Parts: sequence; structure tokens; C-alpha cells
Amino acid sequence: MFKIFSKVVLLIMFFAAINVLAGKVFENRLNYQIILPDNPTKVQRFAASELKKILGRTYAKAIVLNGKTDEITFFVGFSGNAVIAGFTNVPPMKGKFGVFRKDSKFLFFGEDHKNLDPVSSRYNSAGTLSAVHYFLKKYVGTNFYFPGDKGYSLSLESQLVFKGATDIPKPSFEVRGVYHSSREFSRKELNIFARRNLCNIPFWGKADYSYYYYPEKWKKRFWKTHPDYFMQRNGKPVCGKYPLHVPCFNNPAVIKQTAADIISAINRKPSIRVVRMFCDAPINQCHCARCKAAPERRYCGKDMNQGEEFYGFQKKVIDLVHEAFPDIYFISQSKGNSYSNPPKMVKMGPLFSVEILTRRPSSLSSYSKYVELVKKWNATGVRTLLKSYPRYPAFKDYPIMNPKFLQQYLKRFVGLASGAYRSDLSRKTPYAFCARGQFIQTRLLFDVNADVGRLTADFCRFAYPGAEKEMIAFYDEMERLFSKSKSMWDDPLMTIYYAGKLKKAMSLLDAAAKKVKKDSIWFKPLEAAFKKFYAEAWRKKPQIDVLRKAAPIKTIAVPMLKTPINFKDKVAPEMWSGALKEKFYPSKLYKNFQKSLAYIACDKENLYLGLVAFEKYTKSLKQTCRKNHSGAVWGDDCFEIMLVPAKDNSRYYQIVVNSLGVYRVLFRKNGKQCRVGKAFKVQTRSRIAKDRWLVELKISLKQFDSDDFDHKWRFNIFRTRAANVKQASGLRIFGGSYHNLNQYHYLTWPKELEQEKNFLSKLKFW
Ligand SMILES: [Zn+2]
Repeated sequence: MFKIFSKVVLLIMFFAAINVLAGKVFENRLNYQIILPDNPTKVQRFAASELKKILGRTYAKAIVLNGKTDEITFFVGFSGNAVIAGFTNVPPMKGKFGVFRKDSKFLFFGEDHKNLDPVSSRYNSAGTLSAVHYFLKKYVGTNFYFPGDKGYSLSLESQLVFKGATDIPKPSFEVRGVYHSSREFSRKELNIFARRNLCNIPFWGKADYSYYYYPEKWKKRFWKTHPDYFMQRNGKPVCGKYPLHVPCFNNPAVIKQTAADIISAINRKPSIRVVRMFCDAPINQCHCARCKAAPERRYCGKDMNQGEEFYGFQKKVIDLVHEAFPDIYFISQSKGNSYSNPPKMVKMGPLFSVEILTRRPSSLSSYSKYVELVKKWNATGVRTLLKSYPRYPAFKDYPIMNPKFLQQYLKRFVGLASGAYRSDLSRKTPYAFCARGQFIQTRLLFDVNADVGRLTADFCRFAYPGAEKEMIAFYDEMERLFSKSKSMWDDPLMTIYYAGKLKKAMSLLDAAAKKVKKDSIWFKPLEAAFKKFYAEAWRKKPQIDVLRKAAPIKTIAVPMLKTPINFKDKVAPEMWSGALKEKFYPSKLYKNFQKSLAYIACDKENLYLGLVAFEKYTKSLKQTCRKNHSGAVWGDDCFEIMLVPAKDNSRYYQIVVNSLGVYRVLFRKNGKQCRVGKAFKVQTRSRIAKDRWLVELKISLKQFDSDDFDHKWRFNIFRTRAANVKQASGLRIFGGSYHNLNQYHYLTWPKELEQEKNFLSKLKFW
């Protein structure tokens, strides 16, 4: 009796010792055990709990592995016991995860970010957890469709077939994720959903410390003591709003100071691994002697076009920081000419990441511009990732359902960019509109060639049982509507989701409602959200119809004035007797739309345009440009007059004028911008009144070819409100672009001018 008792005690002590030293049993059920290392990390602990939960719900009987019901051991993370069990040749798992098998023992292992809580953050790698989820999906038959505990399907009593010794997958992209904001699910649920779907955002994909040259900081510290630290413009140091917000890039003291600040920040907070310098803003060039003489300047263009200098400066700072901390990564800002022109003189290297900002989702776009940008950046040795898969109008809650498009889009970047971790979901969007997209995005980032049709069918089977057929048709119809769009920049309710176009989708959803099983928890939210959107589309339709029909293309006949306009009277085109008056139409349904008027007339030698911009806030008009023929006048509150004298639209003048009467002329021929510059003269006068600003233009006709007056021209005028609530309007405006010449009105000249043709041509040659 004593002997047996002591043996048992010894045995217990022995196992206890092993457990303490070499791992602990987390679960012991049916014919399987889950073993965690001693002192497990949060990643390992959560991975084991996921495995325990799913296996517990999947199996009521012993698990059959390769046809047998032997005892199965699952090691989650490397414990001493795993080594004893024979896992001794595991390859380095940097950036990867995998499942390893020895007989009926499994090891789940991968690269885990240090001190990561995989449930409270979606960032950083949790390789061991991915290994467990990968195993559950691929071998146990679990599928994760939605966040939360009702969002997955089980494959009850499924037999495990795992013949090889390892399964280390090679995903299409290293950076994988979905956007993370929803009113319907908690952050935690969304994080778990992303992890379950093998999302992985390596630490180098996002900054955890930003160093910006905010004037309030740098100016406060150095303005008085070191004016030479700041950018010089026209002989003076400046420190203001962008593009004047940065220091001199060629002052060695600035480089040292910046590096010193970053090193101090890392010393204060050792968890910093990725630093971002500069915010997303364009930058002007420094005029100091050192900058002008810098070798980089030769590779730069004018003013904002200065990638070489901008990144050359960053590289000098990075090299200094690396002397103290060789493993610190950096990440680029992503706006402006600098970003679009990667440096050639310096190689930024693999510790520098660049986010590629792709814009304007369109099934018709080749995205070649961005593909080229990725290639250019890759040539500098950096890592690239997609800042967003093409960005939608922010904070809109449209039912954008386009996984086929997404697949084509992602395919263009396979092997070029590391991946993406955003999607179409914004906090306001009903999750139901994005659910299939989120699910499929995670799959495509893992396997870009996945069958989207099969995934959709799979999704519909889970989410809308009984109505799979109708729901597949519904999704197809929604993607078909999207695939017609050239750009999502315009109000989709005016274009792809114009009320009448949604009828078919609505009827498919109605048909699905009759067939879907009553206990489907995912159909109701989608139906409710879509019905609301559908009603909204119809509610706005009458207004949209007004806009669409507001200004059909017409011919504007320029009247010949009987009494010439005296350019010395008060600026008041509404007083021009005999001029034609035209209204402006908004490009969208703006609240508080500010109206404009155009007065059009000519005499034998000049075209007269009188423009009236009604404006609530005339005190805060944007008037950056003060000199004719220079600066971005189109960035001010302005009018843009488009004159297209060429029969085939191959040549046109764009005259931009602001509220000071400052103007600039652009001339485009055969699709190319040509320099007309100061050669093209316009006489302007302007006036700002309490509720409006006015500008008058006198354009000498002899500046055009005499043949131009033989036929109709194309003609348009646009107005941009820049300073206050941004608005675009025009004599005829459709969509966002000002350059769609075929959408313009026609313009004809008075007969008298025809007779003057010879006179005009004489004037021209004299
Ligand atoms: Zn300088």
C-alpha cells in the first residue's frame, strides 16, 4: 500500500516537475492535449484558447487523424516538451508561421511580436496564433465570416488529414489586413476577426513615433537662436504653414539636431521601432546658398519638386540615428512631388517603408501610374505597401460591393508591394455592406488567385441560408453597377447608384427575404441598411434629375455690342447693355450653393466676359496669387474660362482668374501643355462687394487664328470656391473634371465678325 502510494506521489511529482520545467497542459480532452510553454506569452495563451474553444465545439468524439484515433498532442509555441517530442529541426520563422507534425504531435509556431496582446491590437505579427487559425481553417474545417462568436461555421467531427511533416504557407502578401472601425462590433471583436483570418501587419508597416517640424515646436526652440535652421525664402528665414513648414535640408546642424531629437525620443520610449519624419504636406525649396549649391538640387525640379533633396536629407538623419540604434525603421510621408519622385542619388534601403497611395477606385483604371511608382520606389531598395486599396470618398456609407475589382487591383501589385491593410469599411458604413468584402479581402491578401465566385457562394451559404441563389445574384448586380463607374469621385447617387439603377438589386433582395431561413441573423441587417439606402436614393432623385437636366448642351451665340464697354466705369457687368447672361450650375447637391453669373459679349476686336460670384464670406477669399502668369491661380477662389477654338478640340485656352483679377493662361495642344505664358494678354478688372466678387475680362480676338472664327467653338466657364465651403460649378458641369471638352457648350460668333476676318488677320500680321 505504502509502496503504491509513494509511487503515485513520485509519479505526480515527476510530472509536476516536467510541467513546471517544460510546458503545461492547457487542455486535456477526448484523445487530445494542448500544451503551452511555461510562462506563455499573450499570443500563445490566446492561440491555445482559440484552439481549445474550436476543437471543443467541433468534436464530441475522439479526433481521427490520418485514419487513426491515437493520442494527439498540440504544442502551441515552443515548450521544452515540444523539443522532447522531437521538434528539433524547425527552420527560422522570421516573418512566417507554420504547422509542424511528428506522428500525432503538432507544433504551431511562428514569429510573434514581442509583448504583443493580439486581442487589443491588430498591428504586429502573431505568427503562433496564425499557425493555429491556419490549422483550424485548413484542416479542422472552421470558417470565419463575421466578427464575433456567431460569425463562424464549424465542420463537426471532421477527420484530420495531415500527411506531411510541415505546412508553412506562402501567402500572396506579407501585409494583410482589413479596416477596423465599426459601430456594430467592438474593437476587440474586429481584432480577433482579423487575426482569425490570418491578417498580419508587420511592425515596419506603420509608424509608432512621428517627428514633424511643427512650427510651434521648432520655431519656439530655434527661431531666435538659430535662424539658419529654417528654410530661406527670398533672403529671409521662414517658418509657417506648409509648404513653408520645414527646416533647411543642407544645414548639418539641422541634420544633427533632428537625429538627436529622435535618439532622445527612443531613449525615453524604447518600444519605438518605426519613426516617421514629415507629415503629409507639400514642401517648398530652401533658397539658401548651401541648398542652391547642393548636388541634389540638380536633380530637383522647381520648388515643390525636390524628392532628391528631401529624401537625401532624411537619409543623412537616418544614418545618424542608426549609429545609436541600427534597427530603427523609418516610414515616408506620402504626398506631393517629392513622394512621386523617388531619389536616384541615395538608396533609402530596406529599413525604409513607403506607403503607396492609390486613389480613385475604378474597374476601368489600369493603375499603371501607381504600378510605376511602386517600381520606382522598389528600385531604391525600400519596402512598399499599399496605403489603401483605392480610397473611396471618405465617410460615405454606400453599398460598395466590388471584390472582383479588388482581386484585379491586388493582382497588379503582387510581387511589387507587400500588401494592404485598409478596406472600404468606415465607422459609419453599415457592416452588412462590407461584410462580404472584408471576408474576401482577407482571403485575397492570402491567396490572390482565390476564386471570388466560390468565396461569395460560400459566404452566402453561411450568412443567408435558403436564399443563396438570390444573394449571389444580388452581389453580382451590385458589382456590375460598380464596374460601370469611371471614378467614385462624383456623387455615386448621381452616377452608379442613381435610384432607377438600383431596382434590380432591390428586387433580388426582396426575393431573398422570402426565401432566407428565419433564423438567419445576418440577412436582416443587410436588408434594413439597403432599404434605407434605396429610399435615400429615391428621395434624392428629383433633385438629382434637376441637376442632370439643368444645363443640356446648347449653343451660346456671342452678341455683338452696339455700344462698346468702357473699361473705366465701375466694375459692374450686370450693367452691360446687350450682353448675354448665363447661370452657373453646381457639380453636386451642395447645401448653401453660392450662385454665379456670366455676362458674355463682344465687339469687333474683343471678347468681354463679366463674371459675378455671389459669396457669403467675401472677407476670407483665397487670394494667394498676386502676379499675373505665375502661381497656382486655380488654387484660389477663381473662375476658369475654357475657350476651345480648334474644330477637333485639339487645342484650347484655359484662362484662370482670381478675385483680385490676377490671371494665368494655360494653352494645351494635342493633349500637351504648351507655354503661352505672357504672350497671351488679358485685360482684367475686379471688385469685391459685400455679398459677391466680380471680375471683368477683355480678351483681344487677334490672339486667335483667323480660321478659328469659321466654325463653332467649345466653351465653358467654371468657378471654384476654395477658401470657404469648397464648391465647384460651371455653365455646364458634369462630374468632377473640368477637362471633358465634349461636355461643354458650343459658342458661335456674330456674322459681323466673319466679315471682319480679313481685318483680324491683317491685325495679326502687322
Ligand atoms: Zn537651405
